[in-house]
Amino acid sequence: MNDLKPFLETILELADPWFIDEITFDQEQVRIDIYLDFRKGGTFSCPLCSTSGCKVHDSTMKSWRHMNLFQYKAYLHARLPRVACPSHGIHTAKVPWAREGSGFTLLFEAFAMSLISGASLTITSTRLSRSRIFRMSPPSASMKRPENGATTTSPPLSLSRVKAPSS
Ligand SMILES: [Zn+2]
Repeated sequence: MNDLKPFLETILELADPWFIDEITFDQEQVRIDIYLDFRKGGTFSCPLCSTSGCKVHDSTMKSWRHMNLFQYKAYLHARLPRVACPSHGIHTAKVPWAREGSGFTLLFEAFAMSLISGASLTITSTRLSRSRIFRMSPPSASMKRPENGATTTSPPLSLSRVKAPSS
């Protein structure tokens, strides 16, 4: 699997200091896990003012659902760095593959939206996951609800997950 690292780093458009540390493959679970990391001493931009060269304060592990690789479910895992900005203090750095707070990669979200545009939510949910129900919710800033409180019929712009009742 390690031979795939340069290929997947290119596909994921990873740039320094990010790299693929490990790839694991579980044929029984039909799943590929890609573990990303950043090199020691790597710096990031402040998410508020874009000042570059901010040092890493600490990090927490996070996982993102990525698009399938052929029939295999794919997940990215990485320690998410919190950086120390001289002007703004400590904040979580942005990563190039996902929006802040999302459990999905940008490519996965784009794929989901393309399915939704041509299919009902029920069909789309089934395609996306057999074990979870995908509930649609508006993102925090880019979509406003009508003032009369009515729900909109325009396509939702983000996904959030809730566990399906066990069956
Ligand atoms: Zn800043």
